[in-house]
Order: sequence, then C-alpha cells, then structure tokens
Amino acid sequence: MKLILLGPPGAGKGTQSVELSKSYGIPHISTGDILRESVKAGLPLGLKAKSYMDKGELVPDEVVIGIVAERLKNPDTKKGFILDGFPRTVKQAVGLDEALAKMLSGIDLVIYFQTSTKVAIERLTGRRVCKNCGFNYHAKNMPPRKEGVCDKCGGPLYQRPDDNEATVLNRLKVYEEQTKPLVDYYMKKGTLKKVSGDLQVGELFKVLSQIFAEAKLA
Ligand code: ADP
Ligand code: ZN
Repeated sequence: MKLILLGPPGAGKGTQSVELSKSYGIPHISTGDILRESVKAGLPLGLKAKSYMDKGELVPDEVVIGIVAERLKNPDTKKGFILDGFPRTVKQAVGLDEALAKMLSGIDLVIYFQTSTKVAIERLTGRRVCKNCGFNYHAKNMPPRKEGVCDKCGGPLYQRPDDNEATVLNRLKVYEEQTKPLVDYYMKKGTLKKVSGDLQVGELFKVLSQIFAEAKLA
C-alpha cells in the first residue's frame, strides 16, 4: 500500500503514520523527521534546512525531492510506504511522479486530512515531543503521566522550536499558499480521499482502516 498523507501541520498525519506503519508493516517516511535528524547530527543538509524550518518556511524543493528519491530506493519500500509531509508543493509532486515512474509503481491513495485552523493551532502550540524516542504528547489533551517525562522511555520532553505561535501561523499560511493546491492536483488524478483531521486519534484510525479495507489495499 503506497500512501500520501496530505493536510496542514497539526492535522495528525505523524500520529496516524506511526500507527499505520505498525499495523500494516510499511515504513513511515517523514521529510520533517529526516530533516530534524540531519539537524541533530550536524550534517550539511541539516545546517541548510534549519534556517527554513525555524521560520516555518519550506526547505527548497530540490533538497527534499532528493531526500525522498533516495529513501524510496531502500528495499523496505517494496511492500509500500507512507509519505508524511511530502509532497508539499506541486513541484515536489511532479518530482515524486518522476521518481515513482522509474520504479514502475504509483501511489494508491492520497489521504487528505481536512482540519480546522483552530484545532491545528491548538494541537501544535501544545505539542511536546520526546527527545529520545520522538513520541508526541499534548500539554493539555494528552499529557504524560509525569510532567516533562516520556511514558514510553523516560526521555525528556521538549517543545519543537517551530511550535511557537508566530511560527505556527506562518506554517499554516505557507500550507494554504503552497501545499493546498495539491488537493486539486490529486483530485484530478482520482486518488484523493478526504477525512476529517479534527477527529480523535482512535476514531480517525478506524476511518482510515475502513478506507483501506474498502479499497482492498489491506
Ligand atoms: P509539520 O507538518 O507539523 O509542519 P514537519 O515535521 O512535517 O511538520 O515539517 C517541519 C518543517 O520541515 C517544515 O516547516 C519545513 O520547513 C520542513 N519540511 C518538511 N517536509 C518538507 C517538504 N516536503 N518540503 C519542504 N520543507 C519541508
Ligand atoms: Zn520517549
């Protein structure tokens, strides 16, 4: 099953990706995670990307297209994959089509997480992430048992530098301008399915499982 999860920041794409990846045994490919790893490792790619990410701007298309094209060559993508946070521009979508044409395979479904701005802002500004394992919490809606400490691994929780309100608002604006046109792009290809990103995590997971069963993808 080859999936793209499309939707604004704060739609819950990352959270659903982790669950789907476990349930269906296919890798979760998040360009945001790959870029943050490169920042953490002090790689040249990370140095280049950080200034864009901290402002809530998009990293240049050539850079992310290159990352994904390389990642898709890994044999673990044979059975399928979940793309989370990519493509984010029409140019990236065209780059992806080209990379997939070389692999003689196409995307099965694009899931569009339609999400209200209010919910997205609330989720992003309250998000806390485990520095160690990457698990996501929410200061109010999904707090850890012990404040500042990850339930799963005991690691310290932190707030992403781009999760402050000003940067969140810019990320949403960038989404509207540069990413939202992809809804139309994939609608025309006939691969788009719309779901509500405002649903609770468990409810949305059920909706998605139903969609895959109906499409005979799982
Ligand atoms: P979110 O979806 O919550 O905004 P991500 O972790 O997907 O968070 O992305 C964080 C940042 O990484 C983005 O604001 C952007 O700077 C950069 N980034 C991630 N994916 C892409 C992409 N496909 N194209 C350009 N920049 C990207
Ligand atoms: Zn953890």
